[in-house]
Amino acid sequence: MNIKYGLPENVVFCKKCLMSNQQPYSINETTHKKDSKKTTMKIDEEHICEACKYTEIKKNIDWESREKQLVKMLENYRSKDSSYDCIVAGSGGKDSSKTSHILKYKYGMKPLTITWAPIMYTDVGKQNMESWINVGGFDNLLFTPNGKVLKNLTREAFTNLYFPMQPFKFGIKFWALKMAMKFNIKLVMYGEPYIEYGSTPLKESVSPKLDLKYFVNDSEDINLGGLSVKQLKEKYNFNDNDLNPYMPIRSQEVKGKKTTVEYLGWYLNWDPQEAYYYAADNCDFIPDDHRTDGTYGKYSSIDDKIDGLHFYTRYIKFGLGRATYDASQEIRNGHITREEGLLLRKKFDGEFPKRYFKDCLDYMNIDEDYFWKITDDARSEHLWKKSDNDWKLRHEPE
Ligand SMILES: [Zn+2]
Repeated sequence: MNIKYGLPENVVFCKKCLMSNQQPYSINETTHKKDSKKTTMKIDEEHICEACKYTEIKKNIDWESREKQLVKMLENYRSKDSSYDCIVAGSGGKDSSKTSHILKYKYGMKPLTITWAPIMYTDVGKQNMESWINVGGFDNLLFTPNGKVLKNLTREAFTNLYFPMQPFKFGIKFWALKMAMKFNIKLVMYGEPYIEYGSTPLKESVSPKLDLKYFVNDSEDINLGGLSVKQLKEKYNFNDNDLNPYMPIRSQEVKGKKTTVEYLGWYLNWDPQEAYYYAADNCDFIPDDHRTDGTYGKYSSIDDKIDGLHFYTRYIKFGLGRATYDASQEIRNGHITREEGLLLRKKFDGEFPKRYFKDCLDYMNIDEDYFWKITDDARSEHLWKKSDNDWKLRHEPE
């Protein structure tokens, strides 16, 4: 059997949520290595996933004491003058809005917000970005990478990895840290810990911070969109300056720098739905006026026209669609039951992202036939079978 991406052959679903052991950790999706074998979320003998275990751990956390630790931690970074003392990266979504707002207005910090522009802004995304700055009230540094370069990288990543957003993900992963070092700001603060979606190992999620070393990569073998830097330069005539925004952080750059990354979700009991209400109340964040393709929600990852395609590629590669991610998170946070989640998965998972499909094809400069050829090649045999000319998942949660 041809199993792609190094996924586990035996598909196991969590009995509490709807996630499976096919969920890769995000760390091996952003390594700059070619064909890095995917390590995936662990599900124990009792069929409970790491994200659900984390939810259990959260129930026993003394949040008052965690908040005291937050205040103490922030004291170490608080600027004594008018300078910025932390960076919050985002594009005015619910997480970056809540994180920056609470740091500034509740804890008296002086955040600089920074944004790596979405690949293709949606109208609602643009509006939320403006509200974040104008209603929330923040200084913002916007970086828009060279569109000619990013278009080509996105098409390569789609073709070679079936992961069109990979270059963008590299960009946002390192940009906040690069800017923190440039402006000599020692704290980068994110909201939601990735474990909420099972994309970091449990043991890494029980510590509150990551230091710069975690992000350093000195390898000479750097790949982007499935091609080496040398191949990209030859094919597109790119130079180092063109590719720089996507490059990892090197040891040399961090010498003498003391920036730390922290997650507010480690200190405060974080619930994505609460973050949405908070952002709506304080930064005029608005949900989409349409239901998002592939799920039943309207307020998560709505700022980029390519988001729908991104989630669709995950459904094809891992059998986990956008509704599965949303429902699993809401089951864990007690907003819906598992039975309701199963129905939502059945109804919406894998729904084709038709709303912005044409925009995505035009952006990558590919046609529909090419899209479907790459899509069918991306299906792993252990997850998919063809019957009556239709692709069906071999395994579903029960
Ligand atoms: Zn679970």
